[in-house]
Amino acid sequence: MKYKITLLPGDGIGPEVVAAGAQLLGAVGDRFGHEFETNEALIGGIAIDETGNPLPEATLEVCRSGDAVLLGAVGGPKWSDPLAPVRPEQGLLGLRKGLELFANIRPVKLFPALADTSPLRSDVVRGVDLVIVRELIGGIYFGQPQEKHTTPDGRREALDTMRYAEDEAARLLHVAYQLARQRRSKVTSVDKANVLASSRLWREVAHEVAARYPDVVSEDVLVDSCAMYLLRRPADFDVIAAGNLFGDILSDEASMLAGSMGMLPSASLGEKLADGSAWFGLYEPVHGSAPDIAGQGIANPLATILSAAMMLRTSFGLEKEADAVESAVGRALADGYRTPDIMSAGMKQVGTAEMAAAVIERI
Ligand code: NAD
Repeated sequence: MKYKITLLPGDGIGPEVVAAGAQLLGAVGDRFGHEFETNEALIGGIAIDETGNPLPEATLEVCRSGDAVLLGAVGGPKWSDPLAPVRPEQGLLGLRKGLELFANIRPVKLFPALADTSPLRSDVVRGVDLVIVRELIGGIYFGQPQEKHTTPDGRREALDTMRYAEDEAARLLHVAYQLARQRRSKVTSVDKANVLASSRLWREVAHEVAARYPDVVSEDVLVDSCAMYLLRRPADFDVIAAGNLFGDILSDEASMLAGSMGMLPSASLGEKLADGSAWFGLYEPVHGSAPDIAGQGIANPLATILSAAMMLRTSFGLEKEADAVESAVGRALADGYRTPDIMSAGMKQVGTAEMAAAVIERI
């Protein structure tokens, strides 16, 4: 089979880790007899430098004409002036909105070889294997009005709007339930229904959706309790479904369970394709552009490599190939390969290219 993948390297370590991901996809293609055609396009700071726009129209077009997108990261000190008229992050938000990618999927799975790199005790993180499904293009990040003004008595005041329509919540929850069916069949819906009206609607819709999946165990957990349970009993969670703001915060908290940001992949999905077989998706590491280590060849490429594995499984239905990549990552770690961010005593410290090569050798 032939698949068209758009590569959006972006800024900082983005180009380094996307190069590793592209090399891995090439190797998977060779081993399993698939053709992965790649096209590169601009996003983020580099796109501002070259075109004045963090998301040039040409980039959206290339993405729409392909089967999936692999993105590195955007942003960096060069473009971080808060008063600048355009910012790299607008490219990312625009891409998610432009491609209608409403569900962000973040698996957090601890590779046994890395049990000691989590800041939490190894007996707490043992067995952690959860997925956070976060609503990505609604809620308080997009709700209007969003503004800052001066009140008639001269005080500065700012406001944001947290708004969810029933269909926005329902489509996200359906993704969570469908994922749960492929896993351990449990969904935890997160809200703040004791305080927020938008959360009370979310919970109402969560119960309606849950009724359609009687084979899946469902629970509601308040966001503050969820933040606490993630540290106290993280291995109890299977799929966590949350709105944009709560999902954003909980997924960064959960990322620490796996040891390093450099280990965490993600997928942002739109609707399933018309034949119902697969999702169009944007795949990217959870981490940012890491300007502090950019250009040194030491960035951990595993989050991007694991994102490419998610692409193989979720957008292309290539389950065996995705398993092969994930198990090759596990074996490279078990054989002692470590980039500096996950280094520990007695292991082999390597750079981005050597880590990618170690995984490729083990596919
Ligand atoms: P960051 O994730 O870039 O870096 C945080 C820390 O983790 C740094 O010390 C960095 O060196 C380390 N790190 C991150 N990825 C790593 C990897 N693959 N290997 C080894 N170490 C890694 O977050 P930040 O420093 O808060 O943000 C830097 C820039 O990235 C900012 O401009 C921010 O806006 C942007 N950002 C972009 C995205 C994205 O593109 N999706 C996400 C988060 C932050």
